[in-house]
Amino acid sequence: VLTKRGWFAALAVGACALAGGSWRYAAVLLAFFIPSMIVSRLGRERKRSLTDAGKTGPRDEVQVLANGGIAALCALGMALTHQALLGAAFAGAFAAAAADTFGTEIGTLAAATPRSILTFKPLARGLSGGLTGVGTIAEVAGSAIVGLVAWGAGIAPFWTVVLAGFAGATVDSLAGGCIQERRYCERCARECETDPHACGERTKRVRGAAWIGNDAVNFLATGTGALACAALGAWFSR
Ligand SMILES: [Zn+2]
Repeated sequence: VLTKRGWFAALAVGACALAGGSWRYAAVLLAFFIPSMIVSRLGRERKRSLTDAGKTGPRDEVQVLANGGIAALCALGMALTHQALLGAAFAGAFAAAAADTFGTEIGTLAAATPRSILTFKPLARGLSGGLTGVGTIAEVAGSAIVGLVAWGAGIAPFWTVVLAGFAGATVDSLAGGCIQERRYCERCARECETDPHACGERTKRVRGAAWIGNDAVNFLATGTGALACAALGAWFSR
């Protein structure tokens, strides 16, 4: 599931969670990590043949921090300041990470052709910025698991976490559709996110910024989830 350095990064995120809110935060982390690990393994062979997105295989430390870095910072902030809204932000960040992972991993397996969130035109499977009905339902489901545990642990109201997770995943799709780097393989005549392409051919950039990949977009999405959950929490508790 993770590379060796990926495991170190995950342990660091876990240590921050424990420092911020002991078992309650650790439970929220696991509510993201375990289901995400399971859906990532679902139909792995099929996904490998279908997708043209970036990294496949075990996740490295950059991917771990793109998904868990914001939450780790929120947990550290909680340990230092005891601001309850940082707990909500912590849960919101993991809800966004879970929503995005579920949407991508389950949406890729769906039979329907994804459509661009921006133009609604059909898009190759697995590319960022694509939406399917199944993927969207999966986003809510992933977010809801984190929301349920966060609510049970007394960290944030269920619906604020679910909404925040969905907001994060939507920002992920929007950013993936417009600012994330998109490349083109001439040999296969299709768009992809890597250079070289899976076929070995060098690819050229057709859209987006060269320095914005999946990890930067995930970072943005988890930041959105954190902010949205804290904002909803502040509004809810007025
Ligand atoms: Zn190719």
